[in-house]
Amino acid sequence: MTTNGYAMIAQVRFRELKTRVGLALFIAGTAWFLTKGLWPIGWFAVVVVTQFIDWLVFRPTRLNTQMPLSRAYRVVMCLTTTLNVVVYSAISAYLWMTGGEAGRLFAIIQVAGGLLHVSLHMHHVRPLLLSAVVPHSLYFLGLPIMGAVLDGQPQDVLIAIGGVLYMTHLIVAVRQSSMTTRALQDANDEARAERRKAEVASAAKSDFLAVVSHEIRTPMNAVISAANLLRRTRLDREQREHVSMLLDAGDVLVGLLNDVLDFSKIEAGKMQLEAQDIDLRDKIGSLIRLWEPKASANGVRLKVLIDDAAPARIRTDPLRLQQMLFNLLSNAVKFTEDGTISIAVDWRAEDGRLIVSVADTGCGIPADRLAHIFDSFEQVDAGTTRKYGGTGLGLAISRRLAEIMGGRLTAESVEGEGSVFTLSLPVEVAEASVVEPKRRAMADDALAGKVILAADDHAVNRRILTLLLEPHGCRIVLVENGAEAVEAAAAQRFDAILMDMQMPVMDGLEASAQIRLHGLNRQTPLIALTANAMDVHRAAWDATGVHAFLTKPIDPVLLAETLAEACSGAVNDTVVQNVA
Ligand code: ADP
Repeated sequence: MTTNGYAMIAQVRFRELKTRVGLALFIAGTAWFLTKGLWPIGWFAVVVVTQFIDWLVFRPTRLNTQMPLSRAYRVVMCLTTTLNVVVYSAISAYLWMTGGEAGRLFAIIQVAGGLLHVSLHMHHVRPLLLSAVVPHSLYFLGLPIMGAVLDGQPQDVLIAIGGVLYMTHLIVAVRQSSMTTRALQDANDEARAERRKAEVASAAKSDFLAVVSHEIRTPMNAVISAANLLRRTRLDREQREHVSMLLDAGDVLVGLLNDVLDFSKIEAGKMQLEAQDIDLRDKIGSLIRLWEPKASANGVRLKVLIDDAAPARIRTDPLRLQQMLFNLLSNAVKFTEDGTISIAVDWRAEDGRLIVSVADTGCGIPADRLAHIFDSFEQVDAGTTRKYGGTGLGLAISRRLAEIMGGRLTAESVEGEGSVFTLSLPVEVAEASVVEPKRRAMADDALAGKVILAADDHAVNRRILTLLLEPHGCRIVLVENGAEAVEAAAAQRFDAILMDMQMPVMDGLEASAQIRLHGLNRQTPLIALTANAMDVHRAAWDATGVHAFLTKPIDPVLLAETLAEACSGAVNDTVVQNVA
């Protein structure tokens, strides 16, 4: 029998203690009423003492359900149980002998009840079951048999036979109940084991994604950065077009990488939200500026209408809000060949909800496909990827994000006429008085003369950093691992430090922590530049107190701006992320 079985019984016995004592009081009262003797009162006192012993003996396993049970302790628990039953049912023997017809009836019913009770609640721990059932059965069958033998009352034989039949029924019922409990327990154990397996598999999937993401980002960084560098050289029209193709494909791949990472984070329940105060109109404005050129290039008008009642500033997760709206706008632009795209922002003051709808006059979605577009990797038809690109993950991620943020994302559409996507999101109204620090436009010479330490184990990455940054007039000191970075930082003061994460000898986190500890560059702004884009990595960098966190592939403009801002000594503890 398992340790848990004893502990479970100890807990049930504790819960029922008051009921048992109360019942004993009632039985003692009835016995006194039937016999008018003093024995029932003495019996009740002994019951209280034995119930106390029972409470004391079962207490340790009740309080510590996982404690290992020694053989001696188990024997003591069984003996206590027997003692309790012997004492509790002793009143039945007294009533049987002295209570007349009513007393005999009361006695036999009481013992039968006791027998049923212990059989049901102790059946999963056999030693305890036997310790309780044996004395009960002796009373149950012994009393009528004794009556038949001593008093020569033949009807008592019939009661004994009835008792045997009753016990037979009880045994069958208990066995069946035991089997059901065992089957349930097995099913439970199996489900638990399956869950553990699934958790291990899910952790392995996350690790796998982190590694794959890192491994893809590193060469992607080289491809995109090289294309960016190529674009800066003198090119003819055809070459420029080819470079643009390279960069567009790079963007799509980075977007896909981010989508897959986000999706797996949501699936694993690991998507963490951040809350920040943002300017609502600024946010919508920047999205519009981003999509307007593309829409007008297609001959499509982009209209925006923001409810005057909508708060100036709201508190929400800016990155995720941007991601959802970006996706809706990108789809609207992608699937609308002429007409208008209208963005309406409404404010529902009664429950603090922002309602953003993106309506287009595009191709629309057939009614039978509408329900499926929010499923992962679902597109209206298989040709979509070939014609428009995309993977069918955007809406799945957006809807799940909306739900995680307590909102909803719904769609209505008429094929051939257009679609309306509506995002309803609870947001807090933020203080309007707080002035958001404006990102200053970078001056051309912001990096001139600055000395920057860059640690990266990939030769291509080091080369790219040099090519991207040296035209700004700064000097780059390159090292190949964390240990070399610590050494360089001890010898010379830098204006900023760019640090990769995974490097041989000493990784970037360890090196950053050491540089932060003491020496010339204790206060130097550190910028994490890494292909590890998972939240755990961001959190690890945050803990070391980095100035900014940039993911690869490197966005050359963002890199230069972040460095310029770091070198200017501006205090900025926001984390900048390169999102596609
Ligand atoms: P993707 O755009 O990467 O294919 P989404 O999950 O964003 O993935 O969209 C899934 C599908 O829903 C699209 O492939 C398209 O078939 C359909 N869809 C989404 N938005 C629109 C829209 N505004 N008009 C028509 N179809 C749309």
